[in-house]
Amino acid sequence: MGRKFFVGGNWKCNGTNEEVKKIISTLNAGDVPSQDVVEVVVSPPFVFLPLTKGSLRSDFHVAAQNCWIKKGGAYTGEISAEMLVNLDIPWVILGHSERRLILGESNEFVGDKVAYALSQGLKVIACVGETLEQRESGSTLEVVAAQTKAIADRVSDWTNVVVAYEPVWAIGTGKVATPAQAQEVHAELRKWLHANISPEVAASTRIIYGGSVNGANCKELAAQADVDGFLVGGASLKPEFIDIIKSAE
Ligand code: PGA
Repeated sequence: MGRKFFVGGNWKCNGTNEEVKKIISTLNAGDVPSQDVVEVVVSPPFVFLPLTKGSLRSDFHVAAQNCWIKKGGAYTGEISAEMLVNLDIPWVILGHSERRLILGESNEFVGDKVAYALSQGLKVIACVGETLEQRESGSTLEVVAAQTKAIADRVSDWTNVVVAYEPVWAIGTGKVATPAQAQEVHAELRKWLHANISPEVAASTRIIYGGSVNGANCKELAAQADVDGFLVGGASLKPEFIDIIKSAE
């Protein structure tokens, strides 16, 4: 089964009402390949989800940047998967390293969130990735395998999961992984899926790369056999996001 190229834009905690409108109008005017070639999903902060969904072109989709681990209720400050479904938000990013590291989300917590979001009908961009210390100590594969296993232990259907490999040392640093570094981890992750889940899941699950992707480095990364797209932070707020989408071709 072919894996459709996937480009996600993670706006993180950025933007004013005016700035968001400006980004949306740039995206709406962009000349990009058709939905048969590339799936595009942008992820604004929660408060801008309705505005973005209401004014974004219909061939691009929206994602939340997080959701609660279970059914909503007395959880002050949280947003539930049910609410996203209610607003017709199809995607959610879970397990981003900023949440894992700054907010202390464990592998198990992320795994539970992924399982719950899927159970409610959301599609999930599940993030994994090692820190610089972990890479330098040679434990990259062990770390991403443990993060992936915590999801695999709780999820049986991978149809609605995209895995984002995002080395922490490459996020927001301008220090992008080389195409060979990205390809190596993506291939190992796919091998892990093959051995621990199934050959079908390994063949069909998109593994996208994130960490300082920009208009200049995306082509070479996109050419790697196991790189099925990108999760873009900083550059997704700029017009060059259109160039990154075009690297699907
Ligand atoms: P960056 O962020 O592109 O700004 O490095 C990527 C991400 O955190 O998803």
